[in-house]
Amino acid sequence: MSERPFPFLKFARALPAEVSIPIRVADFKEINRDFVDGEAADQASRCIDCGNPYCSWGCPLGNRIPQWLKLVKDGRIEDAATLMHETNPLPEICGRVCPQDRLCEGICTLDEGFGAVTIGAIERSVTDEAIKRGWRPPEATSRTDKRVAIIGAGPAGLSAADRLVRAGVSADVYDRHEEIGGLLTFGIPAFKLEKDIVRTRRRVLEEQGVRFHLGVEIGRDIAFGKLVDDYDAVFMATGAYAAVDARLPGQDMPGVIVALPFLIANARHQLGTATDADVLPDLRGKRVVVLGGGDTAMDCVRTSVRLGAERVTCIYRRDEANMPGSRKEVRNAREEGVIFRFLAQPLAIVGNGVVDGVEIAETRLVEDGDERARCEVIKNSSQTIPADVVILSFGFLASPPEWCARFGIETDDNGRLKAGGGSRLPLQTSHAKVFAGGDNVRGADLVVRAVLDGREAARSILSQLNVVA
Ligand code: FAD
Ligand code: SF4
Repeated sequence: MSERPFPFLKFARALPAEVSIPIRVADFKEINRDFVDGEAADQASRCIDCGNPYCSWGCPLGNRIPQWLKLVKDGRIEDAATLMHETNPLPEICGRVCPQDRLCEGICTLDEGFGAVTIGAIERSVTDEAIKRGWRPPEATSRTDKRVAIIGAGPAGLSAADRLVRAGVSADVYDRHEEIGGLLTFGIPAFKLEKDIVRTRRRVLEEQGVRFHLGVEIGRDIAFGKLVDDYDAVFMATGAYAAVDARLPGQDMPGVIVALPFLIANARHQLGTATDADVLPDLRGKRVVVLGGGDTAMDCVRTSVRLGAERVTCIYRRDEANMPGSRKEVRNAREEGVIFRFLAQPLAIVGNGVVDGVEIAETRLVEDGDERARCEVIKNSSQTIPADVVILSFGFLASPPEWCARFGIETDDNGRLKAGGGSRLPLQTSHAKVFAGGDNVRGADLVVRAVLDGREAARSILSQLNVVA
């Protein structure tokens, strides 16, 4: 019998092996191991090079996926890494945290019927391997005397820094945290993205010439105006940090905590940089209820499992299909024992001085012509879910720095910085020397779109400074 002609039939779609559930919930390590023994090449060979690369359209960065899959298939790891970095300054990070099912893989021609090519896992493992072998992003061919200040070492800031130094421009990145990464380090838990990966990228960027100034808050330690005066351009990549307040009765009771401070405290305990301010509740043996259905809520439920909670319940007012969180994260949470209560609206946090439950009402979704179905509370359906700890995770809004108004940097009604449009360069604000991108312009969004903004802001800055990349 002849061999099967199509590699996508010979090799089934496969992700790198997952650590078994009892082992993975015992620590904060990533749950997928690396591809081994040519598995990445086998998986890359499943690409049928369909002619119209839907995957590239589905990727916000327009990654040249079929081209680098071919290089991986041929074992040309360093060449594949070079091509990946042409469009994506942080491929090993996007490969780990992108919701691929909604982006590149969700649109792969093989997705229906055969299983999409495992694009994210290949992107991640090829970059890890290339860096391990000593490969580095291409260097600038010449240096200029131009200098750019970047506020924020999250994905938007890091992406811009990479593009600028590769064009021979100095990049000084300021961040109030003690480590780079923004939410990559102080939001997304290590079971999705181990912090050594971010530290490795820091080393790579420093070798490229990026200078980090950490533990420095602009507006407190250095005036924003000084950066505007001292540098040729400023890129604001400050994120979106105003937690949405659902104003639930009882939310100020002891036992109610807010998602991001909880995740940051846990990150700092993992990093060994926690201070007295980073209070991590003892969840051992406790009943934890997380309110919300986004990526942050998924990170909170899975973190609670790892911190020893006895029972973890996620309450979300819409149904599973309408959850904003990534499908793979919901699946992972469920596998780790998290209970989901969909179509349930929290009404109040109840208790006698300390939390002992969350009062909820059932909801139904009503289609009334809007893009998203409306959520309607069903009368007389309330009940109380017992809880010792409640974590509020209702999302984030933009939090523009106070200096924006003083420097004429416009924001919209939702506090997002206005960037681009009209006669401005893409991502240029209403202050000619100041550019902005990532969550502070989009509102809470995705890593890959912050990376895109960093890349495109750098392009605009280079154009303004007349630097040919
Ligand atoms: P940030 O990552 O927020 O970085 C902004 C940086 O600016 C921070 O380091 C901050 O300290 C610094 N900064 C702000 N103001 C100042 C100042 N005045 N001086 C100095 N420094 C300053 N997206 C995904 O794609 N996949 C996921 O799985 C995912 N999970 C998430 C989980 C959580 C818990 C959260 C909160 C978000 C998640 N996201 C995820 C969204 C993603 O992390 C963000 O969209 C992305 O990090 C935005 O990048 P950014 O560079 O714009 O901002
Ligand atoms: Fe897919 Fe994200 Fe990689 Fe683009 S950056 S190819 S969306 S994993």
